[in-house]
Amino acid sequence: MRALFVAAVLFALAGAPAGVQAPDNRGADLIRSAVVTGATLINPTAAAPVADAVIVISGSRITQVGTAGSVKAPAGAEVVDARGKFVIPGLADMHNHLGAGGMSLGPQRENYVGNLGRLLAVGVTTVFDPGVGEGDFARLKAAAAADAAPYARFFGTGPAVTVPGGSLGEQGPTPATPDEARAVVQKLKAANVDAIKIHRDDLAWASKRTTQPMALPVLQALVEEAHRLGLRAYVHAPQLARAKEALSAGADGLMHGIIDEPIDQDFIALMKKNRAVYVPTLGMFEDVADVAAFGKRQAPYWDQLAFQPPGLYQFLTSTQGVGMFQSFLSNTAFTKEHLPMLRTNMQRAFSAGIPVVMGSDTGFFGVLLGVATHIEMELMVEAGLTPLQAIQAATINAARMIGRDKEQGSIEAGKLADFVILDANPLADIRAVRQIHRVVKGGVVHDPAKMPR
Ligand SMILES: [Zn+2]
Repeated sequence: MRALFVAAVLFALAGAPAGVQAPDNRGADLIRSAVVTGATLINPTAAAPVADAVIVISGSRITQVGTAGSVKAPAGAEVVDARGKFVIPGLADMHNHLGAGGMSLGPQRENYVGNLGRLLAVGVTTVFDPGVGEGDFARLKAAAAADAAPYARFFGTGPAVTVPGGSLGEQGPTPATPDEARAVVQKLKAANVDAIKIHRDDLAWASKRTTQPMALPVLQALVEEAHRLGLRAYVHAPQLARAKEALSAGADGLMHGIIDEPIDQDFIALMKKNRAVYVPTLGMFEDVADVAAFGKRQAPYWDQLAFQPPGLYQFLTSTQGVGMFQSFLSNTAFTKEHLPMLRTNMQRAFSAGIPVVMGSDTGFFGVLLGVATHIEMELMVEAGLTPLQAIQAATINAARMIGRDKEQGSIEAGKLADFVILDANPLADIRAVRQIHRVVKGGVVHDPAKMPR
């Protein structure tokens, strides 16, 4: 949903971020060691939290995890005293377009690479971007390549595959035939994408101006060619019937929750057959339902983060901003009316054993960088998940979605040292995920107060 407003949103950035930061790969070549002591360790498993935990890091990896006395730290290791604090795995936002949330294009381009670093400061150590131009995709991959790079790990689909006029201006390839579809996937594979993304939506859930969805043989060819080339195929299909069509074609996951109808046994069976993931993007739907209210909810946290541009939410909540939004999305009343269904569907999917994965749709108009990731986790809890389940969705389930669960997603010896040290207990109140003491990524310990805004 990133490029929805590309053509028409003219909201100029005051104080637009300057150019791309040079990658900082400090320490990438020398073996550092660090030890985090005294915190309560919360892993995304059924295991009870470990009090007074010790986590030993060497280079970019965790080498030992245990309790005080059971683990020996190497001499000379940097000691991080985390007594009274709580450690969770680094957060993974698996639907994040890396925009600030207010605009696109225009003379001031979004600073995608800078934003990938800003997300690290709020505890997001992995990002999956389902819709980004090929040039930006390559720049983001390069910046984030080193384990120790001060950016969230970057995964993505490159440009989403769509239909002409689809999704109100999404700019991506628009194959008309199965042959064209296969060629599109081959080109994306050559661009080194991690997966592909397909649009399957007539937009009726949000707009009175509907579009004709992609022909089924084209959809089928996209999925089959992706699978033949070892890529997973994720689909934007927030309507039940369209989602089922995509799943019948073999889709590996849904990049939005189902908003229009209650999910049923057929849907659950298809999801299970495909081992498909469910990324509900609750915040995006809240935003579509009432952009001003969602802007107000995000406002205090945006100010706290001091991210650019300042005062973005004031535009979103202004008559002008709301009017611009509704000129595109002319059926937001439908979305608003169906929010309870969206929440129930997520809960039902989770209860059925479908892997629910956290994703915010950051960068969509009104869904603000950094803030929206934390709020997405709050919304998941408000919709019925426990805080631990929301943490699972944002860590180990996310890692499984990209086939990386042996590398990341939990705090275990041998895995990458990607975790967040919190000042408060997120199991007691999920809002603790924004009370960040330190962010550890690729073995490097970051103080968020000193990270770039
Ligand atoms: Zn999106």
